[in-house]
Amino acid sequence: MEHKSHYELVILGGGPAGLSAGLYAARARLDHILIEKGAHGGQVLLTDWIDNYPGFPEGLSGWDLVEKMTQHAKRFDLNTLTAEVSSLNLDDHENKSLTLDNGDVITFDTIIICTGARANTLGVPGEEEMRGKGVSYCGTCDAPFYRDVEVAVIGGGDTAIEEAQYLTKFASKVYVIHRRDELRATKVIQETAFTNDKIEFIWNTQLKSIEGDNSVERLQLENKDGSQSTLEVQGVFIFVGISPNNSALPLDLLKADKWGFIPTDIETRTAVPGVMAAGDIQSKNVRQVVNACGEGATAVLTAEDYLNKQKGK
Ligand code: NAP
Repeated sequence: MEHKSHYELVILGGGPAGLSAGLYAARARLDHILIEKGAHGGQVLLTDWIDNYPGFPEGLSGWDLVEKMTQHAKRFDLNTLTAEVSSLNLDDHENKSLTLDNGDVITFDTIIICTGARANTLGVPGEEEMRGKGVSYCGTCDAPFYRDVEVAVIGGGDTAIEEAQYLTKFASKVYVIHRRDELRATKVIQETAFTNDKIEFIWNTQLKSIEGDNSVERLQLENKDGSQSTLEVQGVFIFVGISPNNSALPLDLLKADKWGFIPTDIETRTAVPGVMAAGDIQSKNVRQVVNACGEGATAVLTAEDYLNKQKGK
């Protein structure tokens, strides 16, 4: 794990926001490092097909998009480090530092937090026990295991409805179980799902438990009117929103919102001078790949401005 003890700019996280920030930082010839604990890409790696990223009229897979973003930044000498950050120390904003999980400390002048978010769980009986045995949070990863069988999707947002559609490529039937009587998903995504014969909606209904001997066999459901029912399926895909990846962040200093996301101004500045946040970790309503990329780019330009002012330029 090769790294210096100090950088002008640290980029924390290698999803679309981090990779875009990396591209801009590398092209600006900033003394930078992008730190990512695993594979680059973040949640996009879990997305089967992306049809709304401009410049790719035929669409492309999440994996391909990440690969292209990584190659693009590397063409300009993006500097990366694979390591987990255990804490970010911003108390003294003139002497900012982070600690890696091996104990190494890296100091920096500016940082862009691009740590993203992850899928929520429901916490119902059977969910944890049958994770990987019929309980899934990734259609792209697991759909091929459910060829010609019936499965359920929980949730009514973009992710749930898009993943339900993807699942119909494999499963014989996909039940979408939603707690209200209308979807949250974007209208155009809804329209396609409503015309898909393999999708059946179960409205006003919550999942109460997941049952089966060694793998998922049935779901216990409860309607808003209190009535209970059993649905026999071999898989259940849970898409009920996201939570921030913020365990290493000083949430009080960054004035995190009540869900733990980080508020920024329009130029990605957080409450701490020299600290920017971009992508899904930002406190906001719209979380799209294209936004994350724009925010990553903005964050580098804001970081450069901060560095120039520090140097009295
Ligand atoms: P989301 O929009 O927050 O939707 C979460 C869904 O889960 C909602 O329908 C919600 O119900 C339901 N839900 C939440 N907690 C629940 C619980 N305890 N029990 C039952 N249902 C529960 O999350 P998302 O779909 O993951 O999307 C996150 C962000 O990514 C959104 O901004 C979305 O637009 C974006 N996204 C965009 C695309 C795209 O543009 N192609 C694709 C995927 C995601 P209620 O509706 O009743 O609250």
